[in-house]
Amino acid sequence: MIFTVAIDGPAAAGKGTISRAVAERFGLAHLDTGLLYRAVGAIGGDPVAAARALRPEDLSRDGLRSLEAGQAASRVAAISEVRAALVEFQRRFARREGGAVLDGRDIGTVICPEAEVKLYVTASPEVRAHRRWLEVGGDETRVLAEVKERDARDMGRADAPLRPAEDAVLIDTTGMEIGAAVAAACAAVSARIGEGRG
Ligand code: C5P
Repeated sequence: MIFTVAIDGPAAAGKGTISRAVAERFGLAHLDTGLLYRAVGAIGGDPVAAARALRPEDLSRDGLRSLEAGQAASRVAAISEVRAALVEFQRRFARREGGAVLDGRDIGTVICPEAEVKLYVTASPEVRAHRRWLEVGGDETRVLAEVKERDARDMGRADAPLRPAEDAVLIDTTGMEIGAAVAAACAAVSARIGEGRG
């Protein structure tokens, strides 16, 4: 079975939790594509060379989840040659036998426009910053400023900007418990799997 669930949206909207839950519930492989860009940013030096030489073990480097690593990721992610170097790996993962969930910014629009299910998970910047602050601590005002800065860079870049695919199901998690967001995502996947079988 080839079956792709594309989950896009801004930082700290709940994509990671939803993706892991959907992958587990339906027995699909999961790729957090943000980790690819975080690893390229963390390696340092020439980002294009780092992206071309990226190895699986680079994705388990220490510190990739920090705010700084997120900012570095969004800077290298605006470079077209970096994105181009990472496309093939993501496409192959998306269409692997057995099905896959990929979360990121451009999965439904660029990496896998043919995905069977596309979700766009979002929430207000304030709510996303608060969630991120609960994880990383520090100064919440600074976390909010970083979230907004990263949104602007991810939405404003020329190559593969963050935006919902036209046929994406929108899930706004602003006033939603994460359990309800997971249920909405699973319902969208179930509906599509049901169609395929019918
Ligand atoms: O999702 P995460 O916060 O880990 O992503 C880090 C950064 O990597 C994002 O802010 C974005 O700039 C970039 N990214 C991207 N395309 C993806 C996934 C992440 O440009 N598919």
